Amino acid sequence: NEKILLAERPEGMPSHETFNYQEEPIEQPQDGQVLVKTIYLSVDPYMRGRMSSAKSYVEPFGVNEVINGSVAGEVVESKSSLFEPGDKVMGMLAWKRYNTIEDAAVRKIDDTIAPLSAYLGILGITGLTAYFGMLDIGKPAAGETVVISGAAGAVGMAAGQIAKLRGARVVGIAGTNKKTEYLKNELGFDETVNYNQVSDLTAALAEACPKGVDVYFDNVGGPVSDAVMSQLNDFSRIPVCGAISSYNKTEADVGPRVQPILVKSRALIQGFIVGDYASRFQEGSEKLAAWLSEGKLTYEETIVEGFENVPDAFLGLFTGENLGKQLVKVSEP
Ligand code: NDP
Repeated sequence: NEKILLAERPEGMPSHETFNYQEEPIEQPQDGQVLVKTIYLSVDPYMRGRMSSAKSYVEPFGVNEVINGSVAGEVVESKSSLFEPGDKVMGMLAWKRYNTIEDAAVRKIDDTIAPLSAYLGILGITGLTAYFGMLDIGKPAAGETVVISGAAGAVGMAAGQIAKLRGARVVGIAGTNKKTEYLKNELGFDETVNYNQVSDLTAALAEACPKGVDVYFDNVGGPVSDAVMSQLNDFSRIPVCGAISSYNKTEADVGPRVQPILVKSRALIQGFIVGDYASRFQEGSEKLAAWLSEGKLTYEETIVEGFENVPDAFLGLFTGENLGKQLVKVSEP
């Protein structure tokens, strides 16, 4: 069996040195346990936070300890009455080719509704994050202008489509032309801005949002968000979902003071963690699955093949390699 450990706490941008591969024997499952083969493994921006020792809403990974995250796989041996070999399951599992775990650590998934990989994205955490952040905090109304940063990522493209379903005018900000073209041509975003290509982001946003911004779904923070904050309408809402532009900074990220903007606009800015909505995951999952099956919602994935490429897939999140959800395919079902 092969596993990936956190080799050291990265300073700034992580690298291959951050990860260490080790071999160990596969443990046979005991009573109440299952042996799960990893098929897809999710790499996520929040994992950067867990690589630091700083206190946050999830425990840091231990140095020289195995990294864990969302995994979808198949039961290959079962000593549990709840699972049979061949069952597809998911859970927060170790970054290992095979996990020997208590049956309560995984839940069964139905891959006849959607492919296995979708449960790590649109029907999983990133879809739910978009759903609750946009609808509970953003609350877009028909005709309002919704701006989304990180719009071509897993959360961003789901959030944009959900706002479109509410009848909003949706403007997506992303870092490449391939991404902005995808948002416009495939997902029907009304306008897009490539923040890497415009010389004056504030001017480009003002042009893309002639009526100002009513909802800003923020995935990235930093200079992109500074530019959006200058365009806020009265009583606008700002769900702060993530701040990926700052995750590798070694010093505090300082920007313009937003208090005068908030007072003048009476904007509501609210950070949130998807786990805050755990009691409503059933509702969110059912709604997302229904939209998917009705063809009202779609999703995109970037799949890197091979367990040996997990570090590259993770690092690519910070250089924008992914369109939609970044996954690693570790094995065939
Ligand atoms: P994405 O699929 O959006 O991947 C990350 C993307 O971020 C990259 O593709 C890149 O796109 C963009 N990016 C990277 N660096 C920068 C930068 N310096 N400035 C601007 N954009 C950058 O990841 P997720 O959809 O999984 O997550 C999106 C955000 O949501 C993250 O901040 C994450 O931490 C947060 N999140 C929060 C949750 C919560 O509960 N609050 C739950 C899940 C995610 P580009 O090419 O456009 O730059």
